[in-house]
Amino acid sequence: MYDAIIVGGGITGAGIARDAAQRGLHVVLVEKGDFGSGTSSKSSKLVHGGLRYLEHGEIKLVFEGTNERALQMKRAPHLVRPLPFLVPIYKGHKPALTYIDIGLWIYDALAMFRSPQLHKTYRGKKVEALEPALRKDGLAGALEYYDCMTDDARLVLENVLDAKEMGATVKNYTSCRAVLRDRRGRVAAVRVKDELTGAEDELPTRAVVVAAGPWTDRVLASIGAAGDRPLLRPTKGVHLVVDHARLPIHRAITMFTKDRRVIFCIPWVERTVIGTTDTDWSGDPDDVAADAADVAYLCDAVRPMFPDAKISPDDVLSTWAGLRPLMAQGTAGESASEVSREHEIIVRDEGIVTIFGGKLTTYRRMAKEATDRLVEWLHDRADAALEGREIAACRTKGRPLPGAQGIEKPGQKAVHAIAQAVAAAHPDLPARVAEHLSHNYGVRAPKVLGSHERINPDLPYVWAEIDFAVTQDLARTVADVLVRRVPLCLRGRDQGLDVAGRVAARMAELLGWSEAEKARQIEDYQRTVGASRRWKGST
Ligand code: FAD
Repeated sequence: MYDAIIVGGGITGAGIARDAAQRGLHVVLVEKGDFGSGTSSKSSKLVHGGLRYLEHGEIKLVFEGTNERALQMKRAPHLVRPLPFLVPIYKGHKPALTYIDIGLWIYDALAMFRSPQLHKTYRGKKVEALEPALRKDGLAGALEYYDCMTDDARLVLENVLDAKEMGATVKNYTSCRAVLRDRRGRVAAVRVKDELTGAEDELPTRAVVVAAGPWTDRVLASIGAAGDRPLLRPTKGVHLVVDHARLPIHRAITMFTKDRRVIFCIPWVERTVIGTTDTDWSGDPDDVAADAADVAYLCDAVRPMFPDAKISPDDVLSTWAGLRPLMAQGTAGESASEVSREHEIIVRDEGIVTIFGGKLTTYRRMAKEATDRLVEWLHDRADAALEGREIAACRTKGRPLPGAQGIEKPGQKAVHAIAQAVAAAHPDLPARVAEHLSHNYGVRAPKVLGSHERINPDLPYVWAEIDFAVTQDLARTVADVLVRRVPLCLRGRDQGLDVAGRVAARMAELLGWSEAEKARQIEDYQRTVGASRRWKGST
């Protein structure tokens, strides 16, 4: 009998599985696709306090965000790395430079002055030198502040791997189909289905934790636990990827759109990311994709800021789209961008804990709160289920993620030292590849390398990573590898289509696929890429 089945292997469910396992609970994490394949791999990839939430007076959210940012920089320095942001201010701009400057002082103060660096003000020509691609006409000054960039899919994966290491059972491609109840109406078991083989199973459990992001209302309906009204108001967010040479920036650029939203251009080494949109979504969460209007909106927003680049839809190499699992309450009349990014936890007497809303940045705190509520329920209601077992308090604050375990002084210097050690052990390895491996895998980087053969001359990925993805990082499909482990789908000029056949062939060797399965995997990957290009055919 398990203490809890956690439904949803995004950052929220993965964080809860890790926290619960560390406390000594017996839990299973079930995810209907790949870990992180939902919203948690479709974010802006920022670990941030959320400067713009200050405008809506969400001080608590910003305080939690900046503090979790500081903690994650210590516990996962390879994955959560400082990134400078520049807010260019033009003559007559509202909000004015002084107003944003005050906001940034509050931002620094809420971070208890432990930001990667305190913010700075630049005026006139200095800004032009910092970011030469920016429009110069009317440029009055700029403010620079720091947040962090991450690899969202890998942040999920490292939480899953660590949960597993501490005793959690983790099952990808396993969906929750139903909850079975005992005579008193309490949770007794969860019926699950293996989505790759079709096999069904029943997992006996005392409780269920629903952490299904934008699928929350659907999961609750399928397990007979839906309320009168939907809990969520999902909104779609789209990102575009262009070549860095087309939009050459050195810092993330924070920009204000005509409809008074904030969007970013984010440097991603060989590429630049533009995002995001924020529009209500009422369709199937499995079918979310960028459309032509999203692409036009982002290109139109960027063009006046970088007039020489003349960014157009023709520049777009790839797109990704995700749904924010925002709370539905109190949103009448609010625009999508104004809906709160807070989270909520609901505990039902029968043994169902539901958590929704929130941000990638605050996942650890959210996981702590949800696990606290689960433990409380197990103590009070589950017929002395925990009797005789020592259930520890939350300790995730002190435990590094797998890629940072064993680092004595966690920080960017330690990550750089890993890159240097990898380079020293493999003198023919280009510095960019060593840097990439240290950022992606942290202390696990030396274990990745077998062959140094590059997958693509343009990008730092090597073929040895494909093997590592399958043997160590839980990849089961070609899309798992090419979208989330080695994300050529997002960063490759051909979105990885050129190498999908060879990746499938290698995975077939490792996983024993038949020829038919190999062909099916390639087709499935082509469909995934097709969905990210659907905007080209939409009006
Ligand atoms: P998900 O990641 O969606 O996970 C839910 C999982 O449940 C899915 O993987 C799904 O497959 C699974 N599931 C569904 N039904 C079942 C079932 N029946 N059985 C088993 N599994 C099931 N936050 C930040 O902090 N920084 C950012 O920069 C940022 N940018 C964002 C940009 C965009 C465009 C969006 C959309 C969000 C952004 N966020 C950001 C918010 C953040 O990404 C989300 O809050 C977070 O990823 C939600 O995680 P989750 O685990 O709750 O949901």
